[in-house]
Amino acid sequence: GDDGKVLLQVRGLSKSFRGVQALSNVSLEVRQGEILGLLGPNGSGKSTFINVVSGHYEADGGEVWLDGRNIAGLPAHRIARAGIARTYQIPRPFSQMTVLDNVAIAAMYAGDGLKTLEAGRMEARRWLTFTNLDAKADALPSELNLHQRKFLELARALASRPKLVLLDEVLCGLTPTEIHSAVELIRRIRDQGTTIVFVEHVMDAVMALTDRIVVFDQGAMLAEGEPREVMQRPAVMSAYLGV
Ligand code: ADP
Ligand code: MG
Repeated sequence: GDDGKVLLQVRGLSKSFRGVQALSNVSLEVRQGEILGLLGPNGSGKSTFINVVSGHYEADGGEVWLDGRNIAGLPAHRIARAGIARTYQIPRPFSQMTVLDNVAIAAMYAGDGLKTLEAGRMEARRWLTFTNLDAKADALPSELNLHQRKFLELARALASRPKLVLLDEVLCGLTPTEIHSAVELIRRIRDQGTTIVFVEHVMDAVMALTDRIVVFDQGAMLAEGEPREVMQRPAVMSAYLGV
């Protein structure tokens, strides 16, 4: 198939906040069908990268190409339509809506043309099954535990039928058993054809899932390559240890 072609290409991406250079001239590629791990110490720019690529923040400079189209500067909803979904480090469901309708809304707006709520709900049931949330369809998000809220985030992202999902620390705060089931789910997301950028600190999961990693430090790309080899580089180890 198309596996291996460049899906996302970022060139010279920069973003600063009041004198903090959160992203500094970052260039990288994501290939179709891969799981790219994005690593780096706290404050190194990982979430900013997701926020800028998904259009939630405007870049100061640089280009973002998705499938041959420059999407830099487009508003977040247009970028979502172009095929990029993201999750938040802290889940943000619509709190007054059921779990099913949270996913149905995302499904309604997916692709060209608005679907009806009924069509959205049918599609949503599929994604609740995929994320093992069937039993929670009629619950409110506040009735979910952290693990289920994180899976709801994934179901909402998937319902928008993205080419690429940007996952921001989905495993953070989960128990080892929950991490195991989340790793299995992320693998199934890739296997059904969605490319993944995976921001994560849980090293076992990074090693189990990623084909390639990129390491950020202070807003810049410090290293890129095969996960085990990259993590053993002295520059990467010292960035993590802060020395
Ligand atoms: P990471 O996700 O790697 O921990 P972030 O991208 O969240 O790092 O942050 C990178 C830098 O940008 C940090 O210094 C952070 O304080 C700053 N930053 C991120 N978002 C904002 C914001 N909305 N306003 C001000 N500063 C921000
Ligand atoms: Mg972050």
